[in-house]
Amino acid sequence: MSRSLTDDLKRYVERLNCDLLGIGRVNGSAVVVCGLRISDSVIDDAPSDEYYNLVITSSRMLDEIADRIEKFIVKRGYSARAMPASLEEGFSHRVAAASAGLGFIGRSGLLITEFGPRVRLASVLTDAPLICESSERSIHRDCLECGLCIESCPAGAISEKGFDRAACEFYNNVVLAEGKRYGACGICVKVCPAAHRG
Ligand code: SF4
Ligand code: SF4
Repeated sequence: MSRSLTDDLKRYVERLNCDLLGIGRVNGSAVVVCGLRISDSVIDDAPSDEYYNLVITSSRMLDEIADRIEKFIVKRGYSARAMPASLEEGFSHRVAAASAGLGFIGRSGLLITEFGPRVRLASVLTDAPLICESSERSIHRDCLECGLCIESCPAGAISEKGFDRAACEFYNNVVLAEGKRYGACGICVKVCPAAHRG
């Protein structure tokens, strides 16, 4: 493992204006995870066209950041692969971020960070010998005592058993789409009190 490469990478990513940065491990590979905070004023009005636009814009910004990180690593002689921010299948930014110590997976299936779930994420998988400084945390006691996302989800997609992606996607892509707010529910992000714990 290389301390100097890890520190160089961190210094580089700091200049890219991410709100969150961590290095974790997924299936034996190092993964660099970066995050952008979602503006309170936008998420507090969700579902809305503004929230939908923020999701699209932040995905674009995160993809650019992940591409730069990929290039930074490749220039140093290692393999790297930026995973698109909007990726839903086959790879979980949330699981990667949890392994990097950026938060824990809440009942809503969202990553609960220092900003609560009000973040968007991108990841870069690499064989570079980066030092992973954190380990995954299990569900937090505060989450177990809350349940607000379960009560608030209009699709019934969150329960004691966990998060039902298919039900969430149906609500976002079919029900909300009729109101022209494609894929931008965000109610579970909005109601989570972890965003206000500081
Ligand atoms: S709303 Fe409550 S139960 Fe749901 S993820 Fe947030 S803290 Fe956990
Ligand atoms: S985005 Fe909306 S439908 Fe999907 S889990 Fe969250 S509250 Fe439920």
